[in-house]
Amino acid sequence: MEKPIYPCKNMRITQGYGTGTHVNSYAIDDAGLNTGIEEIYAPFTGTIKKIYTQDANEVWLESDNPVEYPDGTIDYMTILFAHANDVSNLYVGQKIIQNTAFYKEGTAGNATGNHCHIECAKGKYQSPGWKANNEGYYVIINGKKPEECLWIEETTNVINNNGYAFKKLIKKENVTEDDIEQLKPLPDDITKPTTEESTDDFKLIYTCLKDDLYGIYLKKGQTLYLK
Ligand SMILES: [Zn+2]
Repeated sequence: MEKPIYPCKNMRITQGYGTGTHVNSYAIDDAGLNTGIEEIYAPFTGTIKKIYTQDANEVWLESDNPVEYPDGTIDYMTILFAHANDVSNLYVGQKIIQNTAFYKEGTAGNATGNHCHIECAKGKYQSPGWKANNEGYYVIINGKKPEECLWIEETTNVINNNGYAFKKLIKKENVTEDDIEQLKPLPDDITKPTTEESTDDFKLIYTCLKDDLYGIYLKKGQTLYLK
């Protein structure tokens, strides 16, 4: 399952959510490394659902499958980008693979300098994509905080995160002892086999050949015994 990745290689959030033109929304603006125009990468594999060229060349991308949010949510995600100067290369129904540069910063619409306006929403695209909020600004339907939706990569150059605690995606080969410690369950979560149960009831299915991290999907009520 894909983890949605922050769409800019250089994170420099110049306007956070809840203030100014972002009042009553979870919109952020990212201006990248400098005043130039940088690429915006697809946070997940998805399909373009709407393009609105009458304002700021807004584009809505909906994930093709449920994705894993950093706050633990598993759901589809829709993301809205705005301000690219040219979207003539894009069309509704276009499929974009995760991490593909497909959009750009720009100044289309109400923008003073090159940046990208980003809004995340939980769930699939909901027509017509946005609605006017109390302040009269159009915001994505079912908006959600960006740090609860997007992961940053180890290579993301964080210049200004505006105080938002984005979770970092850690590549397996770079996992540290501290990371492993964080992944250990709390003592209350550990269930041991009772003494009445014979060890014959347990079947050895895998022997660890080396120290490593192992991921296992368990359903509610299932118990995993490790020796
Ligand atoms: Zn904005």
